[in-house]
Amino acid sequence: MNKILPILIIISGPSAAGKSTLRSMLLQNHPELTYSISYTTRKPRPNEKDGVDYFFVSVEEFEKRISENDFLEYAIVYGNYYGTSKSQVEKVIENGKPIVLEVDVQGAENIIKKYPDCCSIFIAPPSLDVLIKRFCLRGTESQQEREKRINEARNELSKKEIFKYTIINDNLEESYKKLEEVINNYQKEYYKQYRIINQ
Ligand code: 5GP
Repeated sequence: MNKILPILIIISGPSAAGKSTLRSMLLQNHPELTYSISYTTRKPRPNEKDGVDYFFVSVEEFEKRISENDFLEYAIVYGNYYGTSKSQVEKVIENGKPIVLEVDVQGAENIIKKYPDCCSIFIAPPSLDVLIKRFCLRGTESQQEREKRINEARNELSKKEIFKYTIINDNLEESYKKLEEVINNYQKEYYKQYRIINQ
């Protein structure tokens, strides 16, 4: 695929659907793309780095940022705060660069309201059973945490219609190809419209 043009890409979907892996592959193959690093009050997992995976902050700091209107959107996901930095996203867009956000479905819904033209992509598991198996295999959550995420996944799967594109992540390589394909198609449409408006 050619270089990604200045667009806002949202990757969303239930936990363990594979959105982080697909997002990492996209960033590795497209150095022109900026990743919006979210703020969270969740504790870092082993191998996660502050300022790379997330900005890990206390509840007090997060709530201070809410009161200062620092977030483009924020949500409580599985009992922790997660939020997208407004200034980070606006700066990249103002500089005419493409940016990718990976957020839960509530966050995606809020961003789509603000940027209805954005390239919104829902990553779905082949089925709920497959998702449950993936949760068990990755083993990064406690049983209680896993149950919370499975219940939330049921609710998130019912909202895929708000997204422009859905990718069923059955096979990683195939899904990655589809991801590039939908971004490519979106760019063609988006820039065609843009040229018409600016003629
Ligand atoms: P995890 O704890 O597994 O890293 O992320 C939990 C969920 O929070 C995932 O669905 C992830 O996409 C979502 N998430 C990460 N950053 C943000 C954010 O800034 N805003 C929202 N609304 N969700 C986020």
